[in-house]
Amino acid sequence: MQLSPEQLTLQARAAELSNGLISARAAEVDRSREYPWDNVELLKQAGFLGMTIPQELGGQGRSFLDTVLVIEQMARSCTVTARIVVEANMGAISAVMAYGTDAQRKLAADLVLNGDKPAICITEPDAGSDASGMTTRADKRGNRYVLNGRKHWITGAGVSRLHLIFARVYDEAGEDLGVGGFLAIRGAEGLAVTKRETTMGLCGMPEGELTFTDLEITPDMVLLPPSGFKRGFADLMNAYNSQRVGAGTVAMGIAAGALQHATVWAKMREQFGRPIAEFQGLQWMLADMQTQLTASRLMLYTAAASTGPNGSAFPDPDLAAQAKIFASEAAIKIVNDALQVFGARGYSRDFPLERMARDVRMFTIGGGTAQVLRTLVASKLLGMKLPQTRDGYVNAPLTIR
Ligand SMILES: Cc1cc2nc3c(=O)[nH]c(=O)nc-3n(C[C@H](O)[C@H](O)[C@H](O)COP(=O)(O)OP(=O)(O)OC[C@H]3O[C@@H](n4cnc5c(N)ncnc54)[C@H](O)[C@@H]3O)c2cc1C
Repeated sequence: MQLSPEQLTLQARAAELSNGLISARAAEVDRSREYPWDNVELLKQAGFLGMTIPQELGGQGRSFLDTVLVIEQMARSCTVTARIVVEANMGAISAVMAYGTDAQRKLAADLVLNGDKPAICITEPDAGSDASGMTTRADKRGNRYVLNGRKHWITGAGVSRLHLIFARVYDEAGEDLGVGGFLAIRGAEGLAVTKRETTMGLCGMPEGELTFTDLEITPDMVLLPPSGFKRGFADLMNAYNSQRVGAGTVAMGIAAGALQHATVWAKMREQFGRPIAEFQGLQWMLADMQTQLTASRLMLYTAAASTGPNGSAFPDPDLAAQAKIFASEAAIKIVNDALQVFGARGYSRDFPLERMARDVRMFTIGGGTAQVLRTLVASKLLGMKLPQTRDGYVNAPLTIR
C-alpha cells in the first residue's frame, strides 16, 4: 500500500518520538507498573491523542490508517504507550463520535484531547467470549437508568476518565429491552475500581475490575439506548472493529521492534569467529520473521482503510478480524524467535526482548480471542449464522442489517 507524503511525514514524526523519549522510558514503565502520565503529555503535545476526532471538535479528522501508522511506531518501543494511542483514537472514542449527541461528542473530545484514554467496559467474570451473557443491568427509572454489576479486565481502570459501559437494560416492569451503552465519568458516585489485575505484561497499563452500585445515568449520558438485544449488540461489536485493528497493530509494532533488535544483534554477536548473521539457520529465521511482518502490516493497513457494511464508520468486521488473528499470532512467533536470536540475553531483564515477549502474548486474547474471531470469519465465509450455544448451528443465509 502506497502511503501519501503526508502519511510518511506523520510516520516519521511518530518514529522520532518513539525512538527518543518513549523508548528511553519503556523499561521503567514495565518495572514500576505505573501508568506513564509523562508519555501521555508527550503524545498530547505531538497531537497523537484524538487524531480521529473531527476538526470541528478540536481534533484532526484523521483516518484509522493514519492512527495505525502512529500506533505501529509507538509499539516498537513501548507497548503501553501504543495502547494509549489506540484507545485515545479508536474503540470507545470512535463509538461516541459515531453514535453520540453533539454534547456527548464534545464531552468525549475535550477529555481525550486533554489526555484521557477512555475505557470500554464489556467483559464480566462470567461473560468473556460470550459477551451476550453479561449480567450488568441498567434499570430504567423514568428518564434515567440505574446501573448495577461488575466488569473485569477493563483497560485503564482507575486512570481513564470516560467510561463506555455496556449493560442489559430492563424497563420498570422488569422486561428485558436488550443491550444499551452508557457513559460515566471517573469519580461518579457508584463507580468504583475494586481490583487491579496482576498481569504478566503490559505492566504500566492498569487492568481492573469495576463495580457499579446504583450508578445513576442521566439521559444525557445514554450513548446507545436499548434497541433490542441484536441491535445493541451489533452496535457494540461495530465499535470494537477499530479497536481490533488497533490491537493487531500494537502486536505488529512490537514484532517490528523485536525484529529490528534481532537484526542488529545478529550482525554484532560473534560465535565460531563470525557474526551469527552469517549462519543460514538464523538468516532463514529472520527472513520468515520479515515475511510474516510484511503480511501482517498489509492486512492491518487494508483493514484500517476499509469501511464496514451499510456505510459504517468502522472498519470492515471481517477484514478487521482476519488482520487481528493473523497479526497477533504472527507477532507472538516473531517476538519469540527474536528472543531466540539473543540467546541467554533474550531471557534477561537487562534486554527488552523478554518484556516484548510478555507484552505481545496478550494480543490473541484481549479484544476478541483468536478462536472467537475465527468463528466470525467462518460465518462470513460460509454465509451461515454460527451461534455457539448448545442450540446448535443454524444453516440459514446471513441477513445483513
Ligand atoms: C490485557 C487485557 C485487556 C483487556 N481489556 C479489556 C477492556 O478494556 N474491556 C473489556 O471489556 N474487556 C477487556 N479484556 C477482556 C477480553 O476481551 C476477554 O479476556 C476476552 O474476550 C476473552 O474472554 P475470557 O478471558 O473470559 O475468556 P473465555 O471466554 O473464558 O475463553 C477461554 C478460552 O476459550 C476459548 N473459547 C471461548 N468460546 C469459544 C468458542 N465459541 N469457540 C472456540 N473457542 C472458544 C477462548 O478463545 C479462550 O481461548 C481484556 C483482556 C486482557 C487480557
